[in-house]
Amino acid sequence: MSEVVTVAGVSVEPGTRRDIAPSASESFTGDRTTLPLAVINGIEDGPRVFITGAVHGDELNGIPICRQVLDRLDPSTLRGSVIVVPIVNVLGVQIGSRYLPDRRDLNRSFPGSHTGSMAARIARLLLEEVIIGSDVGIDLHTAANHRTNVPQIRIATDDDVSLGLATTFGAPFVLDAKLRPGSLRETAGARGVPVLTYEAGGPLRFDDDAIDTGVRGVFRVLRSLDAIDDAPAPAHDQPMILHESRWLRAERGGILELHVGPGDHVQPGQPLWTTSSALGAERASIEAEEEAYVIGSTTLPLVQPGQALLHLALPGDRLPSEDDPTEEEDEDDPDEPHVP
Ligand SMILES: [Zn+2]
Repeated sequence: MSEVVTVAGVSVEPGTRRDIAPSASESFTGDRTTLPLAVINGIEDGPRVFITGAVHGDELNGIPICRQVLDRLDPSTLRGSVIVVPIVNVLGVQIGSRYLPDRRDLNRSFPGSHTGSMAARIARLLLEEVIIGSDVGIDLHTAANHRTNVPQIRIATDDDVSLGLATTFGAPFVLDAKLRPGSLRETAGARGVPVLTYEAGGPLRFDDDAIDTGVRGVFRVLRSLDAIDDAPAPAHDQPMILHESRWLRAERGGILELHVGPGDHVQPGQPLWTTSSALGAERASIEAEEEAYVIGSTTLPLVQPGQALLHLALPGDRLPSEDDPTEEEDEDDPDEPHVP
């Protein structure tokens, strides 16, 4: 028999689900803003897993993933407990923004504090009520503005537990990604809670492939942890482990024609993109310097010099690059200067 799980002062008995809405913030008129979450406490002992969506308020694919997981999880057969928070950044989602109304990035605001900024308070609430006490977390993101990501899990691949779960998840790619200060993943990891960051699709839309791969992945992780008996087949049988990545940037402004897309395996000398003027004159034609996988791309057809166009990664090797390879990581603030 499992134990009672208590979240935000609410006790959840074994074999039951409780939906809870602790206060996260308050409007200027005094209206309460909540952090809606569901606690599914299984009938038997097992791991505690948390699943978070929309930490960035314009990254929506995690919301339907969480809802589908909630639809199918049955507390009468679950071993352990699952805490699902479909929308962490409620205020950002309301205004379609990555950021909170105080212009802070919630995923740079952990561990947070009860007396700090709006972002710090929400981060602290999530840390204390959801993250601490969990065994594993899955944090659901998408690419930032005007970009899209192939479904991929980002972890520190030198952590065997994370690597095993990331491979089980079944996204096409697993990317070794440095921990960013103040991120949910970094803060949880420092407290012994490994977190898989799932990056899939683009902002402000629901992407069916990203959602399906994510739902399968969540259930496959739960099965791997022995919380449930059965899980769907993986979206991809053998995820490619990628150890280094970088964004390729436009050298010339113009109208963009991409010759490759997300998920493509490119070979040295393969055309990547052409930019041309409004009257059709070709300005730049770029080829791949080496074999790589396209794990993300711009969605904009018009480009300026310096704009990031393709996110390329190599399996098991390092790409020569002057850029910080994670500078453009979509867990990050795309406008933020390099943070060492
Ligand atoms: Zn994000």
